[in-house]
Amino acid sequence: MLLRYPAYFEDFRCIAAACPDSCCKEWEVLVDDAAAAAYRKLEGPLGDDLRRHLYRDEEGDWYLRIVDGRCPMWRADGLCRIQAHLGHDALCQTCRDFPRLTHDYGSFVERGLELSCPEAARIIFENPDAPWVEREVSGGDEPDYDPVDMQILLEAREVMLTILADATRPVQESLALALLYGYQAQSALDGGESSWDPSAAMAFARGLAKPYGGSELAAFYMDLEILTDAWRHRLELPAGAGQWDTRLRTLARYGVQRYWLQAISDFDLVGRVKMIVAACLLVRHLGGDLVETAQLYAKEIENNDDNVDAILEGAYSSPALTDEKLLGMLLR
Ligand code: SF4
Repeated sequence: MLLRYPAYFEDFRCIAAACPDSCCKEWEVLVDDAAAAAYRKLEGPLGDDLRRHLYRDEEGDWYLRIVDGRCPMWRADGLCRIQAHLGHDALCQTCRDFPRLTHDYGSFVERGLELSCPEAARIIFENPDAPWVEREVSGGDEPDYDPVDMQILLEAREVMLTILADATRPVQESLALALLYGYQAQSALDGGESSWDPSAAMAFARGLAKPYGGSELAAFYMDLEILTDAWRHRLELPAGAGQWDTRLRTLARYGVQRYWLQAISDFDLVGRVKMIVAACLLVRHLGGDLVETAQLYAKEIENNDDNVDAILEGAYSSPALTDEKLLGMLLR
């Protein structure tokens, strides 16, 4: 089986107390059954604390309850009590993995880092052109999808990444082309014709674009689930768009690497491309430090399946996410 990951993947180290945010804040941690069983029979004060804060939801999943906005196992020095007392292997799967992502496609696996971790975000934005490492590992399963569809997605993803990396165009044009290429790739995936002419696509995009500000887009995100007051405040009082920042290419390429192949499960490429382009536009509209804004976006949106689903649905139904308006924010 082939394993693929960006070269920086293995360099990630949690910066714990130096982290400007923390994965131990705000999120309730999903505790896998094996870890929950071990915690529930652990003796001593740590076991007592774990039993006090562990709870099971109506679906039977175990969680550690948030206390004063943080995981109750968090120490003032930024370290975790479980890790400090019992070692890394005693952490639950969620905490052992974060911010490492694994996408298992049966015959191959892709790994990456999550933007919602500030240290991972720093690494991602500082290494926009990091090569991908490929190596054979044991394991793998027979894919439950048609390999022809996956091949179409893989080839189309390369085209999309090239469009987004093309620095001969302004970043806003690259994003506009990316949006239209999403329809081309969708057509190919659906078994239709696909012919990509960037010049014709750019002319079409300019004709479609309608003048449009960012407040309606921000209002769309206000209607999603909001985790932190910081995010609500950013949506209510954006710092302003400013110049186009070429790091939006990196944000979009990260989104493509993370979400594109997931269309193998539902055949929805257009929704994912609109989600990626809208993320770039929102991050620009909110302003501030781009890396910090993108990290906050990821924490609020990417780690909440309900929010991701709402955007994928909104891509087809929300007046805030029409092609005319997204292109308008890019080109007008
Ligand atoms: S968010 Fe990242 S750097 Fe911060 S504490 Fe969690 S894993 Fe460490």
